[in-house]
Formats: sequence, C-alpha cells, structure tokens
Amino acid sequence: QLPCTVRDLSEAAGIPAMQIQRILMQEGVMAKINDTMDEELTEFIAAELGVDVDFVQPVTLEDQLLTSIREAEDPEDQLEPRPPVITFLGHVDHGKTSLLDRLIGINVVSGESGGITQHIRAYQIEKDGAGISFVDTPGHEAFTEMRARGANVTDIAVLVVAADDGVMPQTEEAISHAKAAEVPIVVALNKIDIPGIDPNKAMADLSANGLQPSEWGGDIEVVKCSAITGEGMDDLLETLLTVADLHEYKANPHRSALGTSLEAQQESGHGVVAKVIVENGTLRVGDNVVCGDSYGKVRAMFDTLRPELAIQEAGPSTPVNLLGLDVAPAAGEHFYVLDDIAQARELAETRREQTRKETLGSTGPVHVTLENLFD
Ligand code: GDP
Ligand code: MG
Repeated sequence: QLPCTVRDLSEAAGIPAMQIQRILMQEGVMAKINDTMDEELTEFIAAELGVDVDFVQPVTLEDQLLTSIREAEDPEDQLEPRPPVITFLGHVDHGKTSLLDRLIGINVVSGESGGITQHIRAYQIEKDGAGISFVDTPGHEAFTEMRARGANVTDIAVLVVAADDGVMPQTEEAISHAKAAEVPIVVALNKIDIPGIDPNKAMADLSANGLQPSEWGGDIEVVKCSAITGEGMDDLLETLLTVADLHEYKANPHRSALGTSLEAQQESGHGVVAKVIVENGTLRVGDNVVCGDSYGKVRAMFDTLRPELAIQEAGPSTPVNLLGLDVAPAAGEHFYVLDDIAQARELAETRREQTRKETLGSTGPVHVTLENLFD
C-alpha cells in the first residue's frame, strides 16, 4: 500500500526495519521508521532484500460503505417528486443576489459588505404548494470547487445577464460551467428598468455564445426582468417552474439521507455550523453523519431562511444549517448518514489520516524517492 513507510515494508516483508534502514543508509539516506517511500524506491529496496512486493489498493471502509450507499437503487414505488434546485450564476454585479432576494421576498443585498456576496445562500420557498430551492453563490469559484468534488447540486442554472452590460467574461465562464454540469439554462436578462436599454444587444451576445433566445427561434428562455422594479419576476418564476415540471425531478424520501455541504464554519456558541443540502433521503436530528473528514451526530437543524426555526427532518432538495459535526467540512464534500456513529468516526479519521500522510512530505517524516536518493 502506498505511500509505504519503512515500517510498512518491514512488517510486510518480515524483515527488521533496521535492515531496510541500513540499505537506505548505504545509499546515503538516514530514514526513520515512519518515513515514507514511493513505489520505485520501495521496489529498489525490496530487490536489494531479495523480496517481491505487490502494491495493493486498500479496500477501505469508504469503498465498502459509501459506494453501496451511493449506488443503492431507489425502488420505483418509493420515488416522489422533489423540489428543483436552482442556482444563480453570472457576472459580478449583474444582479444575482438582488433577483434571488426579490424572488424570496427578503433583502440581503443591502446588508452585504461591499455588495459582494460572501456566503453561499440556499433557501427553499413554497409556490402553489410545491417547493423550490435556490442557491446563490459568491462567484463561480464556489460552483467550480463543488463541481471539482463531484458535487452537482444544481438542476437548473439561472444565467443572470445585466441588459446594460451584456455577456461579460464571468458570464462566459458561467455558461461553460452550466454546460459542463449538463443542466438546463434559463437566462434572466436583468436591469431592463435602466432607461434607454436595448435588450437586443445582450440577446445578440447570448446568441453569439451559443444561447439562442427562444423568441429568436432558439431553445433558450430569456426572461426580461428587473430586480429593482420587480418587472418580469413572476415570468421568471413561471419559466423556472415550467422547466422544472418538464424534468419531473424525483427522489426517495424514505431512505437515509445523502447530500452535499455548501459551506461550513465554526461559530462561537454553536460549534460547527454546516450549510448542507439534502440530495436524496431524509435527514433527521440524531442521525450519524460523515462529511469529508468530519463526522458527528446531528444535534439540531435550522431553516436557512428563518435561522431561528428549528427543524426535525429535511427531505430531498432541502437546504439546512446543521449542527453537530466535529470540524468544518469543505464546500462540496458529500455527506452520508450511517447506522453507526463508530463507522462515521472511523471514516472521518481514516480520511484525516490520509490527508495527513499526503501532506507529510513537507512537514513530518521524509518522503524518500529514488531520485532524491541519488541526488
Ligand atoms: P450580484 O453580484 O450578481 O449578486 O449583483 P447584486 O444583486 O449584488 O447587484 C449589483 C448591483 O446592481 C446592486 O447595486 C443592485 O442594486 C443593482 N441591481 C440589481 N438588479 C438591478 C436591476 O434590475 N436594475 C437596476 N437598475 N439595478 C439593479
Ligand atoms: Mg451577489
């Protein structure tokens, strides 16, 4: 198993560590028992010792447990409609946060420092008895970071384009992110309240970027709107619901939950507060959760829109602020509910150990390779 420490090789080969260290010393390296060696060097030492080495991919608890959870098929009769998850993307200052505020009827923009969204916001609202979840990100970094971890929490991307500015560099990036995520795109052509605006210019930009507006015969819905006057907001919501209806998003609320952490931090008096979104199953207070290299029993959950509102369970597509994890997980880390808290702890600790080993080279024991051996 790699990276292999002097002790690992000694134990696997049944050869005293001293003997391995002696060979390394002959080559000019003083290696301690916990120093790691790469594959080439391990093979070199093994050859010197006259033993054969085989490197094994360890079958981890992660492989066994999480793969089975991830790949568990939901029986058709347990599937139920779930709210769509809608993410706002676009160039800075084009109005993502303002539009979301307007849609959910709150005002966050005016409270933001410097007008730049600092946190990922995720809310669920109800419209005609059905839920809709919205995610507003500080920038694409968050979206990219999450996607890099394989997190695909978005069902529909709202590409926000300011009519006075048109398609800008971050708009283009947002388009490629949405395309890579293979989610439908709805364009919110915002700021049409600005006097003298010609929306056709931005529409031409869009079509030059492969997003042909439906009113020009393409398949992209472009909703002209203004977060300031509220014009077009109903239209935007209707369009989003229509796209969502077409896709009939479903999940199984009858299984234990899995989902994604959007962001997390240590908050005084609360411990770690993690904003997570449930993708499948139902998350309950008391559940044992592992999320990246953090774990814990869900102590409490709070509504993201009304932070004082405690909730006992959260179904598919629901964002919640979760209390009970021991350390803050990274954005985009998947979480899983396990039967046993000991398993959750073991998984989290194994991952911490892996991370520690990976960063050891620079900080702890030396990572010796054939190259630095002969330097
Ligand atoms: P974000 O960076 O994309 O989240 O953009 P914000 O929502 O923070 O908006 C940036 C600025 O544009 C703020 O000063 C808003 O008041 C302004 N703004 C947002 N929407 C509109 C709109 O529809 N019309 C006008 N005139 N200004 C808007
Ligand atoms: Mg914003």
